[in-house]
Amino acid sequence: MSRHVLVLGGTTEARRLAAALSGRPGLRVTTSLAGRVTRPEAIEGDVRTGGFGGADGLARWLREHAVHALVDATHPFAAGITANAARAAADTGVPAVVLRRPGWRPGPGDRWQPAGSLPEAAALLPGLGRRVFLTTGRLGLAAFAGLPGLRLLVRSVEPPDPPLPPGTEVLLARGPFTVDGERALLLRHRIDVLVTKDSGGAATAAKLTAARELGLPVVVVRRPPPPDGVRVLPDVPSVLALPELAGE
Ligand code: NAP
Repeated sequence: MSRHVLVLGGTTEARRLAAALSGRPGLRVTTSLAGRVTRPEAIEGDVRTGGFGGADGLARWLREHAVHALVDATHPFAAGITANAARAAADTGVPAVVLRRPGWRPGPGDRWQPAGSLPEAAALLPGLGRRVFLTTGRLGLAAFAGLPGLRLLVRSVEPPDPPLPPGTEVLLARGPFTVDGERALLLRHRIDVLVTKDSGGAATAAKLTAARELGLPVVVVRRPPPPDGVRVLPDVPSVLALPELAGE
């Protein structure tokens, strides 16, 4: 009987992992998506969609579907599902690992300002600029509502839910983005400050290079730490090397 691997997805890494594991004899891969994106990109192997109903629901799912190994390849800011995965793995004894790409590092010429949360990022803005490029996703925009006089350009994959902060323009787009494209966007909208989560990865890093070239300040929201005691690996090859995920 083939062994069953559950990948908690929603990232490029999760998609790559599913593709690589699906090709291994003796392994069956299911990728789980939250269901937030209307038309997710194609994923190899089985796909299930929607919440499990908390850590207990996920633990039940692991038992009922005879899961042999769990890979939490969700986004570094998806702290809720990552906490649930750690608890469900501990409760069921299913071997688990977190695949979390490294965060970005500032280089020479970068003008980064760290923030601990979206409200903290919002509080920094009045001292930094007036025309803001906000790339923190469609959720949590309410944190930026109480800042009169700011113009917000929000970029997200799915439209944010109204009500939006006054003076907001929405740009729907999905990465990867190029430095040339990002530079042109920043200039076209006369952006003077960028706000981003420390998502890490190459697909959305071009905006940081473009901001550096243009001398713009960047507010970088720090990641939530992973739960205590979980095994964290930085990339797809290190997960593929795990003995639990070897094919037959
Ligand atoms: P979250 O706050 O950590 O999770 C909230 C709830 O959504 C979880 O408790 C779980 O519901 C459900 N959920 C989340 N990820 C799931 C998955 N892969 N499969 C099944 N259920 C899932 O998550 P989030 O920040 O809203 O992110 C949702 C999804 O979008 C994640 O899969 C993540 O990889 C992806 N994503 C997030 C971001 C970001 O910035 N947060 C960016 C890009 C992609 P139950 O408790 O009912 O199980």
